[in-house]
Amino acid sequence: MNGISLPVIKVKMVVVGDAGVGKTSLAVRFTDNSFIQHYKQTVGASFCSRTLDFKDKTVVFNIWDTAGQERFRSLVPMYLRDAGIALVVYDISSHKSFENVESWLLQLQQYGPRDLKCALIGNKVDLEDDLREVPTQEGELLAEGHGLYFEETSAKTGEGIDKVFNDIGSRLEKNH
Ligand code: GDP
Ligand code: MG
Repeated sequence: MNGISLPVIKVKMVVVGDAGVGKTSLAVRFTDNSFIQHYKQTVGASFCSRTLDFKDKTVVFNIWDTAGQERFRSLVPMYLRDAGIALVVYDISSHKSFENVESWLLQLQQYGPRDLKCALIGNKVDLEDDLREVPTQEGELLAEGHGLYFEETSAKTGEGIDKVFNDIGSRLEKNH
């Protein structure tokens, strides 16, 4: 103990994207370091949390998982209230889920807080190459066009996930 405590930043993170892209799996991988092949369809609000230490601060990620509302492709306002970060997730083996990214971004823009930071995540990168429908470059281009952080991940193997949270966490400055 040296009497100097580092700031603690708490941030609400929402995870959006089509049903089946791996939103719940990503949240579980990051907070519990595990993967289950089949989750029950989430009913009601689902919430998990993990704290990461950085050299100049501690970040508490409070992650809100959608409760099946993504099936209607509309987000309830409560879900977005006070959110600081949004992960917009697509499945690299589903071009359809990638095409829907634009509409998710639009919803975040319309109903999310003004200073919401969005990141684009291409999940399921562990799948065989012949199952891939979205080339990495397509994801990069879309992210570039919207000025978004971009990374490909696998909730199954954990690939890319710590990097996403480290990158995003290290850029956070103020409290949300
Ligand atoms: P959600 O509807 O977006 O929350 O998606 P889920 O997390 O429920 O995942 C949907 C399905 O995709 C499940 O069968 C998961 O096991 C599978 N899945 C999720 N992430 C990955 C991944 O990174 N790789 C692979 N191969 N499968 C995944
Ligand atoms: Mg889910």
